[in-house]
Amino acid sequence: MENKIITIDGPAGSGKSTIAKLLAKKLGLVYIDTGAMYRALTLLAIENNIDLNDEKSILDIAKKSELKFENNVNDENKYTKVILNGRDISLDIRSKKVGDAVSIVSKLSGIREYLVKLQREMASSSPSVLEGRDTGSIVCPDAICKIYLTANIEERVKRREKQLCKNNQSLSKSQIKCEIETRDEIDSSRENSPLIVPEGSTVIDTTFMTIENEFDLIKNIYIKKLKGK
Ligand code: C5P
Repeated sequence: MENKIITIDGPAGSGKSTIAKLLAKKLGLVYIDTGAMYRALTLLAIENNIDLNDEKSILDIAKKSELKFENNVNDENKYTKVILNGRDISLDIRSKKVGDAVSIVSKLSGIREYLVKLQREMASSSPSVLEGRDTGSIVCPDAICKIYLTANIEERVKRREKQLCKNNQSLSKSQIKCEIETRDEIDSSRENSPLIVPEGSTVIDTTFMTIENEFDLIKNIYIKKLKGK
């Protein structure tokens, strides 16, 4: 299939989801939220009282479970509906408990191998936009358009606060800052697939950009790349 893939990587709160959803909606791409997959396996571990470092038990239960991801473009808050054994866990995976634990689970090599395989299968079946930490470096290194988003910490805290509010959750600014910084530190320093600026990607600092400007910029890069420029 022709390579029509966009990857968007970056630290927590850099605005990946918002722009990835918009690109998916306006350019007719399938949205693949790789973070939701790590969150779903983390929730599975928590609910089954499995030690977060016990890779084998998490994988065993993941393989026995039915995990489905449905694109749901008309609901902004549940854009990717995550269904675990028939239960909608789209909001549960956004809880603080899962947020605090997910970077521990996502460090495990076997978990990454399992999910990367799934992500590649999904991306190979339709033109897609993937967002995460390793989508341009590991999952789809040959993607035609690779973006790395950044924003300063104050802006990232503000965005995360807004997102939590949409999900009817609230945390203080200092708690959010601490969560973001801890997660970024673990995600960037892990041995397997750390968060890096992927080779060949365009780095965009979104701190002072509107979503419309960001969309136009990425759309133009994508179109140029599709035309081979
Ligand atoms: O994107 P989101 O904040 O939902 O990601 C949650 C966590 O999942 C990240 O902090 C990271 O630990 C993990 N993750 C990852 N690789 C990805 C996507 C997410 O390790 N491609």
